[in-house]
Amino acid sequence: MCIFDKIVSGEIPANKVLENDDFLAFHDINPKAPIHILIIPKAHFENFQTFPASQMGAMTEFIQQVAIAVGVDKTGYRLLTNCGENSGQEVMHLHFHLLGGTNLKWTGGENNPQETF
Ligand code: 5GP
Repeated sequence: MCIFDKIVSGEIPANKVLENDDFLAFHDINPKAPIHILIIPKAHFENFQTFPASQMGAMTEFIQQVAIAVGVDKTGYRLLTNCGENSGQEVMHLHFHLLGGTNLKWTGGENNPQETF
């Protein structure tokens, strides 16, 4: 059982924002913006690459509701998911980060843009 499965089951507490039968949104324990929400499917999928496209519509609607619930739907937000080793994904349960509440800087990633690869 991964750490987010334990949040879904209630074994580990989380500061929940919104929940339905299939999805859960809760505050990130180590926020990187004034608003930093994690949005997950309750069922375990390792990351975006293995998530069925047929469920993305419902996930999209849920994420939009979360944005309204935390008051960033009008002011804007960033939505991202880390997928796999090169992305730095730490928790192997699909999650979208919803970041907002400030004017977010965009670096395009943490790599030096001058770097050649
Ligand atoms: P990743 O790097 O996998 O995209 O992001 C994992 C995120 O999960 C990190 O931002 C981290 O702070 C958050 N996180 C890890 N463990 C917990 C936890 O037990 N509770 C909550 N609320 N967030 C967690």
